[in-house]
Amino acid sequence: MSKLWVLGNGQLGAMLKHAGESLNVEVIPLEIDGDEPLALDVNDVVTAEREHWPDSATTEQLFQHPNFKSHRAFTVIADRLSEKQLFDRLALPTAPWSALSSDSTEVDLYAVLGSSIVLKRRSGGYDGKGQQWLRKSACDVIPQDWRGQAIAEQAIGFDEEISLVGARSALGELVFYPLTLNFHQEGILLASIAPLDRLQRYQAQAEAMLATLMTDLDYVGVLAMECFRVGDQLMINEVAPRVHNSGHWTMNGASMSQFSLHVSAVMGLPVHQPKTNDISVMINILGLEWEPRWISVPNATVYWYDKEVLSGRKLGHINLNIKSATELDASLAMLKGLLSERYDVMFDWLDKNLFKLS
Ligand code: ATP
Ligand code: MG
Repeated sequence: MSKLWVLGNGQLGAMLKHAGESLNVEVIPLEIDGDEPLALDVNDVVTAEREHWPDSATTEQLFQHPNFKSHRAFTVIADRLSEKQLFDRLALPTAPWSALSSDSTEVDLYAVLGSSIVLKRRSGGYDGKGQQWLRKSACDVIPQDWRGQAIAEQAIGFDEEISLVGARSALGELVFYPLTLNFHQEGILLASIAPLDRLQRYQAQAEAMLATLMTDLDYVGVLAMECFRVGDQLMINEVAPRVHNSGHWTMNGASMSQFSLHVSAVMGLPVHQPKTNDISVMINILGLEWEPRWISVPNATVYWYDKEVLSGRKLGHINLNIKSATELDASLAMLKGLLSERYDVMFDWLDKNLFKLS
């Protein structure tokens, strides 16, 4: 059985492992702080489920392995500065930005980027962490210790947030899922819907952007691209060189999940264009205790990550796969009583976006 080592041992690693089982691949997710030498064979393959990691014997050994897939992409994408430079070099639309240097002033940044700015640390951020606003109206101040460590980005008044998950094989074959509509709250993904007929008109534009990136990086595996939609224009927010939360719906809504697709692509197994089934809704379970009644929600599949329950933490997700508005109503009516108040806005968002033609 061929072996795929995974840098990182969170829920994405667990889902990759599960996918590997039916593809005859032994997937081995690893804690990032290990200090024991690993028994890696030169023919084994290595991938990652995260883009930031501390230096440890394990991360060093995995990242330096000759079969660590898409090594360069990780180096470029892990730092928001080189990531933004990549978008600019490839002429891919992205939110206007500047590096936050030791002599940047608030006045200069407002002059270049407008009066509402998001400061983002160059590395280590996730789920909206490592970000803060810089607003002229609030007289915000640049934090001293962010200088040289962050970028400044124009706040975008987007219409909505969408993402594209795609994959490239070692032969250069490209496959894509349909665009996913995402709902974030305080920087954290709360829910996704895919596919949506009304997003089809942006599919070609998004695929061309992601194809440009994957080809330039000589990328192999699944890559996710998060975009803002502003009118008819897509603008890349960021990309992730891995399987992605906004692709979790593919576990129930597609003929091949993003996890199977990633394992196949990095292992040199055949990849094919996944077929999509009906409409999927993915809801993240954030900071809630395990609730067995989730399992009885019609059309739902529950994924629980078995992590310590902490406020706001991603602890699992629920996939709903539905054919009709009637089916959806039954699922949502029951789910409403089983989640917390923070989800009220999400239910409104789902109501607005599902089975509506506009
Ligand atoms: P992830 O968990 O996806 O890795 P992250 O912490 O790396 O998230 P981003 O994806 O850059 O951060 O930002 C999180 C969210 O914050 C975005 O999905 C969006 O809702 C909001 N946001 C980020 N940048 C901007 C911007 N320039 N203008 C407006 N909103 C923004
Ligand atoms: Mg993001």
